[in-house]
Amino acid sequence: MPHDPLAKHLSDSSSPALSSSPALSNRAEAVLALLRQTYPEARTELHYDNPFQLLVATVLSAQATDKSVNAATPALFAVYPDAAALAQARTEDVEVLIKTIGLYRNKAKNLVTLAGQLLTRHAGQVPNDFDAIVALAGAGRKTANVVLSNAYGYQAIAVDTHVGRLARRLGLSSNTNPDKVETDLQRLFPADQWVFLHHALILHGRRVCLARKPHCSGCVLSVVCPRVGVEKSD
Ligand code: SF4
Repeated sequence: MPHDPLAKHLSDSSSPALSSSPALSNRAEAVLALLRQTYPEARTELHYDNPFQLLVATVLSAQATDKSVNAATPALFAVYPDAAALAQARTEDVEVLIKTIGLYRNKAKNLVTLAGQLLTRHAGQVPNDFDAIVALAGAGRKTANVVLSNAYGYQAIAVDTHVGRLARRLGLSSNTNPDKVETDLQRLFPADQWVFLHHALILHGRRVCLARKPHCSGCVLSVVCPRVGVEKSD
């Protein structure tokens, strides 16, 4: 891999005291081992066949479930299989195809703009570059991390609501800012585990450590979790 498009984005804004604690390092190691046992095949639940589809699906997944995105994208990609086709779309036609997904009006507008940007800036291809993806309409840091890690094989941690919540409950980060949570996790876990880690945390957040009512009694992480028994959202 000649160039790591993420390296320059590793900020030093996390909590140094946290990352220097041997107890915390041990907890992180135990969390990783337990997640490996529980979710050995953890990967994104979004359906896609190429980087363009993954980018579109990830933009659509903001504040929406992967299930709702997966239900809508086959019809969307059948009509608009690439950036060239989507850039020519009328926003209202895209809206019809994604109206079951939250915030669909805004997302339809962003997707048409994004497709035009892919055409004019990147010859219709999804760039293999963090800054270039973040600069696209509707895309942010999480989108860039998802695309770079899943489509291009880079190690990255995409911090969504599940990853942030679990990082805090497990005492792996004290931050609420997703960028700082990302940095805290990067410091605690080996880089070659980042992609697995964020997928496994997302699955655990969806299935066990739910926002409002975590199932602590059946949680494999309860043996190392300082928030076992937490009853309310955080
Ligand atoms: S023990 Fe409870 S709070 Fe801790 S990770 Fe498991 S479900 Fe979440």
